[in-house]
Amino acid sequence: MKIALKLEKFEFKGVSSERPLIMAGPCSAENEEQVMETGRQLKEIGVQIYRAGLWKPRTRPDTFEGVGKEGLPWLKRIKDELGMYTATEVANVWHVYDALKAGIDIIWLGARTTANPFAVQEIADSLKGVDIPVMIKNPINPDVELWIGAIERLNRAGIRKMAAIHRGFSIYNRTLYRNNPQWEIPIELKRLIPELPILTDPSHICGSRDLLFEVSQKAMDLDFDGLIIESHCNPEKALSDAQQQLTPENLNKLIHRLVLRSATIQNNVLLSTLEDLRHEIDKYDDKLMDIFEHRMAVARKIGEYKKQNNITILQTSRWDEILRDKIIQAARKGLGEEFIIKVFRAIHEESINHQTKVMNE
Ligand code: PEP
Ligand code: MN
Repeated sequence: MKIALKLEKFEFKGVSSERPLIMAGPCSAENEEQVMETGRQLKEIGVQIYRAGLWKPRTRPDTFEGVGKEGLPWLKRIKDELGMYTATEVANVWHVYDALKAGIDIIWLGARTTANPFAVQEIADSLKGVDIPVMIKNPINPDVELWIGAIERLNRAGIRKMAAIHRGFSIYNRTLYRNNPQWEIPIELKRLIPELPILTDPSHICGSRDLLFEVSQKAMDLDFDGLIIESHCNPEKALSDAQQQLTPENLNKLIHRLVLRSATIQNNVLLSTLEDLRHEIDKYDDKLMDIFEHRMAVARKIGEYKKQNNITILQTSRWDEILRDKIIQAARKGLGEEFIIKVFRAIHEESINHQTKVMNE
C-alpha cells in the first residue's frame, strides 16, 4: 500500500536538480573561522548546500555538545558571503525558532529525534504555517513505520518540501559500520513513498573515512537522490566525528569517482538481456519455493515421528551441526557466511513451526 503525502519538489533555486544532490559541511560548527574556511573550500568544489550541526546530540555528557545559537551568525555569513544554502539539525521548538529567526534555509530532524513521536509532533506543531524544507533522518532503530510516522507528522503540519535521510541504524556490536545501513529499510520507504527523495548520509553509516565511497556508490546504484556528507577543513582536529569527516578536496575526489547509472533502460538490447537474466532468476526463485515446500513436508514427517516417540522438537546438537556444515559449504560456493546463517535460521524456524503444529494436532 502506498502512502499519500502532499509534496512539492525538493529543489533549490540555482542548484542543479541532477542526481546526486550534494549537501556537505562539518559535523559541528566549531568556530567562525572553521565554518568559513570549510565553506570557502566547499564552494570552490561546487557544493551549494552547507550543513553544520549547532546543537549536537552526543551520547555521553562532557563531550562537545555544539556551540548552539552562537553559531547562527556564522551560518548567516555562509549564506550572505558565499551564497550557499544552509542546513542544520533541530531537536526541539527552541532550536526551530532560533533557526528560523536566523534565516536557516533547510532543517533536519536527527535520528534520535525521529525515534521520539512526542518530540517530532512538537516540532511539527511549531512549523505550522512555515514554508521551509525539512529532512528527516531515519530513527536509530530499524523501524520504517517510525520513520514514516515522523514524515507524516511534518507533512500534516503543512511541510511540503521534504526529503528522507538514510543514516543507518544502531547496532550493539560495532561491525564494519558505525550504523548498520540495512538498505532494505530505505528501499521499503522508497517503495511506499516513491516521490519522497532519499539522501544517504554515508558519514554516519561508516563512522570512518575509508568506506565512504562504497556506501555513496551503493546509494547511487539504488537510485537514491543525493548524499549528505560531513566535510571539515581540518578533519583530524574536528571536535566531533573526526574519523568520518573528509577534507573538501577529498570530498571532491569522491564525488567525481561516483558512477551514475540510469534507472530506466532505453537501449533495447540491454533491456532484453536484462529480461533474460531476470527470467533465469525467476526460475531459480520458483525452484526455491518448490524446495521449501518439499523440505517442510519432510519436516512435518519428522515432527510426526518425534511426536509418536516422545522426542523434543529442538535438538541443539543437530542444529549446530547443520549450521557448521552450511558455513563450510557457503565458503566453497562463494556465498556470504552471514547470508547463509540468516537463510538457515529462517528455514530452521519455519521447520520448527511446522513441527509444533504437528505436535499440537
Ligand atoms: C549529524 O548529522 O551530525 C548527526 C548528529 O546525525 P544523526 O542524527 O544521524 O546521528
Ligand atoms: Mn556527525
